[in-house]
Amino acid sequence: MALKTQERILIVDDNRALAKLIARKMESNVDMIVDVAHSFSQAQDLIDEHGENYFIALLDLNLPDAPDGEIVDYVLSKNILVIVLTGSIDVQTKESFIHKPIVDYVYKGNIADVNYIFNTVNRLSKNRGVGVMVVDDSQPMRTAIKNILKSQLFDVYVAAHGEEAMNYFEQYKNIKLVLTDYKMPVMDGLELTKNLREKYPKSELGIIVFTATDDEGAAATFLKSGANDFIIKPFGREELIVRINNHIENIENIELITNFANRDFLSGLYNRRYFMSSAREYIQSIKNSTESFAIATIDIDHFKRINDTYGHDIGDEAIKFISHILLDSCKGRDLVARFGGEEFCMLLKNISAEDAVKFFVRLRTTIASKEFVVDNVSLKMTASIGVCIGDTKTELSMLLSRTDKALYKAKEGGRNRVEMI
Ligand code: GH3
Ligand code: MG
Ligand code: MG
Repeated sequence: MALKTQERILIVDDNRALAKLIARKMESNVDMIVDVAHSFSQAQDLIDEHGENYFIALLDLNLPDAPDGEIVDYVLSKNILVIVLTGSIDVQTKESFIHKPIVDYVYKGNIADVNYIFNTVNRLSKNRGVGVMVVDDSQPMRTAIKNILKSQLFDVYVAAHGEEAMNYFEQYKNIKLVLTDYKMPVMDGLELTKNLREKYPKSELGIIVFTATDDEGAAATFLKSGANDFIIKPFGREELIVRINNHIENIENIELITNFANRDFLSGLYNRRYFMSSAREYIQSIKNSTESFAIATIDIDHFKRINDTYGHDIGDEAIKFISHILLDSCKGRDLVARFGGEEFCMLLKNISAEDAVKFFVRLRTTIASKEFVVDNVSLKMTASIGVCIGDTKTELSMLLSRTDKALYKAKEGGRNRVEMI
């Protein structure tokens, strides 16, 4: 397994109590190492040592050896994200820093401010890899919004009209939010909203529309057509960011709840209930075609011995280890589930009988060859696999009882084998 260097956060503030408060909040909630410095020179030493590992730095403008925010340019020059912390609500100071490429400018007065800082850092770290699409026929507008989104670390895609946006959707699967203008050539924002909603429910994709004050009734029309929200032009940077973050958080919360319902807690694989309903849906969808598919039950051999020898916790890790192998071995469209204990089920879509057998023989070999290493324990496992080739006329439960019979045969035959019925 490749070792990933852990990311770090740098907090620089000569107010020791406050720095400690922020550090504690970060440490207990964000999976990063937190370093604290009380002066510019201490911060320089830390950056010399850990430079490229810093995800973000929270910087006090008023330090004993850098009283006028000198630290900000220094940290920015090291390509580290910056949040400026300030104790004063001095508009002039704010003006001179807000134009720098910093993430945010935050007052640090009370515990609510500490929570705000924490939420901002947390949000930024989660935004990485989340795609946002901007659709506007005005090039300056596209660029301005793109820059705001980039400062929040989103992956940004831009399109000049609805049709171009629809094309991007086929290519980029990580888009969670669309910000669209109303009046555009070729395909306007309303048509785009309707088209997107035919394919993506609100639980998967947020749509925010820009409307002008003179577009009377436009907001209502958009909301009825499936938009989640609207923003009246002209709008400020902060309003845009807050609204975007709200929508991304909503979608993430829905994902979280869905995962709780559909996935097995230990392995993160789908659970039996989800496997059954998703497999039935798939079989129904290919009813009138000649597509063939394969189902297999996979059971780790002599797993009880692992628990008995190394303890239940190592046993749990071993189950996760095998889960990764199963998931890595197949395509994204296939289904992998943990049915319980050390028993798994896989459905390979659109595959011939011959290729399915090849696949499971290879999977058995891979499992037997990989070494499982954890806490000074190193061991190898094997699995027995029962396969059946699916057809759309047989009930799913029948197919599964065939894989069970095949699995029984594999166990009887000496384990570490693939059998097919
Ligand atoms: P066989 O080769 O016949 O499959 O033998 P086996 O020992 O793998 O199978 P058996 O069904 O006899 O035992 C399975 C064991 O898996 C017993 C149970 O305690 C253990 N087990 C079930 N669920 C979990 C779990 O979530 N974590 C751990 N660590 N062990 C589990
Ligand atoms: Mg077993
Ligand atoms: Mg078992």
